[in-house]
Amino acid sequence: MPFYEYQVVESKKGCAFCEDSFELLQKISDEHLKVCPECGASVVRLISAPSIGSSKSGLDDRAKNAGFHKLQRLGKGEYEKKY
Ligand SMILES: [Zn+2]
Repeated sequence: MPFYEYQVVESKKGCAFCEDSFELLQKISDEHLKVCPECGASVVRLISAPSIGSSKSGLDDRAKNAGFHKLQRLGKGEYEKKY
C-alpha cells in the first residue's frame, strides 16, 4: 500500500500532529483524508509520488528523521499512530 502525505490547510488551525505534515498508509481505493484524525482540521494531500511502504529506500527512517508522523489506518475512522 502506498503512503500519502497530508498537510493541514491552515497551519494556524492545525494541531501538533498535522501542523507540519504526516503520512498515511492507505489503499489506493481508500478515499483521501479530508480532515486531521487528531483535531479535525482540514487537510490536503500533498502532490508527491506515493511511495511503497515496503520499498528498500528506507521511507520510514527518512520520514521519521524529517519529523513526519505516520498513521496506519486500522479501519473506518480508526488510525494508529506509529510514531
Ligand atoms: Zn490536527
